[in-house]
Parts: sequence; structure tokens; C-alpha cells
Amino acid sequence: MPQESTVSLDTLLAELDEMGKEEFGSKPTVEEWDDDFDVTELPIEARKWIQIPDVVAVVADLKNSTHLGTGKHAASTASIYQAATGGTVSIYNRFGADFIAIQGDGAFALFWGDKRYERALCSGITVKTFSSLHLVPRLENKWETHAEDFPTGFKVGVASGRVLVKRIGTPRNLSEQEPVWAGTPVNFATKAAQQAERHELIVTGSVWDHIERNDYLTLTCPCNGGPSASLWDDVTVAKIPESNSEREGRLLSASWCTVHGDEYVSAVLDGLKKRDDAEDARAALRKKLFANALSVTAQQKRRDARNRRIGLK
Ligand SMILES: [Zn+2]
Repeated sequence: MPQESTVSLDTLLAELDEMGKEEFGSKPTVEEWDDDFDVTELPIEARKWIQIPDVVAVVADLKNSTHLGTGKHAASTASIYQAATGGTVSIYNRFGADFIAIQGDGAFALFWGDKRYERALCSGITVKTFSSLHLVPRLENKWETHAEDFPTGFKVGVASGRVLVKRIGTPRNLSEQEPVWAGTPVNFATKAAQQAERHELIVTGSVWDHIERNDYLTLTCPCNGGPSASLWDDVTVAKIPESNSEREGRLLSASWCTVHGDEYVSAVLDGLKKRDDAEDARAALRKKLFANALSVTAQQKRRDARNRRIGLK
């Protein structure tokens, strides 16, 4: 309770109702973004939203974080959050994320503009690599019994699409303002992350469409008998509505290879797509993709929707 009870519920609700009436009484303006789009300069009082045609969202979610105690185990819980969330934010930052926010027990990043899919995928795969090769082994080493009962680690989701953004909150108080990203990308990436197991990454349909011809992201490296087309599996993101073709996505269990990871990250960020060693694996992947009628149909639907948006149909 506040020290002095000065809240008049009736007045508060009447004020909010008046605000709602004004808001619904006339339409806010929606402006298409341009290249000098800057989140920190988004309007808060003006009723103006900015529309960005294609944003890629990466969501990292820490498995079993509700079992991290804040009583007896407060110090170890604090360390886990610091290492896990702090590490994820550093990764997003290093891959040039255009917006980063801490959300619940993880963090999400948004990418727009040049090479947004490449930067997003590299950061998502790096989060799961950090989680499976570094963070979790270190953590299990230190808190063995707890780690056995409640295995933890990052689950990652990636989705893309159009968003509307505006800052909402208390005018003139920065600590009570946040940009609101209306649209499906953050929502669908969160659903994909929730469905993943720890150390897995799930991309929704359109994200796959943008990366499927990139050998560095879709085919295994030459280690362990590669290159092969076995890297990604089909997955249906169950919580995305059945009518939405984004739900037919793909799942990655592997992390960056300790031998080839560094080289592949640089290649992807440089915009390279074709690997000289991967011709057979590439053909095998095409065959594998065509064999799944469900995902072929979903991909066709996404292509039609994109074509309609750019006015081809
Ligand atoms: Zn390798």
C-alpha cells in the first residue's frame, strides 16, 4: 500500500475511460520508416506510429528459471542470471542488434535494415553455442545436484515480419517509457523459443525462406562426415494459429563447430552464401525440402503473401 492512500479509483477509471474515448475517436497516424529511423527519438505524446516492413526478432528463454531460488540459493541464482542474461545481451550487441530488451528470464533483440537475417541468425546460434558449450557446463560443474534436478540452458526462437512501433508510458519520465513493438515477430519468436528444448533454436517460416539458400547456415561443415543436409529438422510451432503459414518452421540442434564456426560467422556476415564443398549436400537438402508437402504448401502461401504486399498480384 502507498504511505498515503490518495488513489481515487472512480476518478482514475473515469480519466482512463476519457483517454480511451479520445484515442478511439480519431485514428493515429502511421508513418513508413526511413533509413534514419532512431528508436530513442520515437514520439511519446504525438499519436504517431512508425511502420517497419520487415523486422527479425530473436528471443532467448532460460529453461527452468522458475526453479532458481531467491532464498537460500540467492547468490547462485544471481550469478546465473548475470552470466546468462549479461552474456546474451553482449552477443546481441556484438552482432549489431538494432534494439535489445531484457524480458523475463532472457533477452530479445530486433534487427532491421541491411543483413538483418544474417545478423539475427548469427546471434541466435551464438547464444545457443554459448549456452551449451560454455554457460551450462560451467554451471553444472558448480551446482551439480541442482542442475541435475532442473537442467537449464537457453532456448532460442527467431521470427520476422512487419511491426508498428511507438514509445508508450509516462511523458517526461524516461524510466516509465518503453517502445511497444506491435505485430507478430516478437510474439512468434517467443512462442518458438518456448517450444524449443534447451540448446535448440527454432525459426518460423519466413526466416527459413530467407536463409534456405545459404550453405553456411543450412548445411553441416566438413567435420564428422559432412557436409550434409541433416542440420535442420521440420517443426510446427504449435502455438502459432493454424491459419498462419509462419507456424511451419525449422529446428536446429547443433551449435557452431569449434573448428569452422569462426570462419562461417565471418562468411555469413560478409554476405557469402555458396560453399565450394557443399554441392552434393545442397542437392540433398533441396530434395529433402520438396519431400515435405506440408512445408512446401506453407512456403507457397508465404511467397504469395509477400508478392501481394509488394504489389505483384
Ligand atoms: Zn567443423
